[in-house]
Amino acid sequence: MAEKPFAGKVALVTGAGRGIGAVLAQSLAAQGASVAVNYAHSQAEAEAVAAAIRAAGGDAKTFQADIGSKATIDRMFAALLDTWGHLDILVNNAGFDPGATPFLEVDEALYDRVTDTNLKGAFFCTQAAARAMIARGEGGKIINISSVHARASVKHHGVYAATKGGLESLTRQLALELADYRIRVNAIAPGFIEVDRLSSRPGYDREREGKTIPWGRVGTPEDLCGLLHLLASDASDFITGQVFTVDGGSLCRLAGR
Ligand code: NDP
Repeated sequence: MAEKPFAGKVALVTGAGRGIGAVLAQSLAAQGASVAVNYAHSQAEAEAVAAAIRAAGGDAKTFQADIGSKATIDRMFAALLDTWGHLDILVNNAGFDPGATPFLEVDEALYDRVTDTNLKGAFFCTQAAARAMIARGEGGKIINISSVHARASVKHHGVYAATKGGLESLTRQLALELADYRIRVNAIAPGFIEVDRLSSRPGYDREREGKTIPWGRVGTPEDLCGLLHLLASDASDFITGQVFTVDGGSLCRLAGR
């Protein structure tokens, strides 16, 4: 039987207890990676994700850390390296979307929570990952989960959009800085991906939402997995500093047409 593509690799997926991160973590584990399932608050869900991976014959462990704090990130990486000794793949997935909030109503606490999670968290997770990868000398792959909001605007999503724009700039910047160490940095920018957070909104209608997307349906977390596997593997060895949109064609559409 052929060896799984990520056998012997260690991957950290932030925010992997629920939503997109849970599916990305399970998909990397199904391809042979040992997976660190990070969560901040969703302990029971994260334990269930890790248990499902192990039940399927994979290797996973949960790591609690609020990635808005560098000290907790550093503790998480120390525990991860203590467990597996190295890290090959980092998926900066954890994110906080406060939903529609008019610019004039954004207070400092909201601003800080969104930027601390989406930008500062990804920044310092990548720094810790890069240090571990450089120390080992075998390169690595960083995949940032951005959003179509980085490049097309919807009213009342200013802070969230700004963090994702920052994350895409950081993707290009770090691709340059880390190329010497054979660490590639890319981003996936999803469009509408159905997760519980969105489908549980009052009045949510999957069919109606799907009709707003050229492909005719809403996205699923599984729609991101093929690209994730490509970017996390050596098959994409010459690709770095890029952002790939996965949105069923949403960004192609001129408003209202
Ligand atoms: P969910 O709200 O379902 O999940 C968010 C995840 O982020 C949770 O696992 C949560 O963990 C984690 N998280 C939030 N704050 C922190 C923190 N401070 N420290 C560690 N983990 C944290 O969102 P999605 O699955 O939809 O989103 C995942 C990523 O995809 C985000 O970056 C989001 O911006 C992006 N995205 C999603 C789209 C969509 O349509 N769903 C579209 C475009 C981008 P916990 O519960 O433990 O706090």
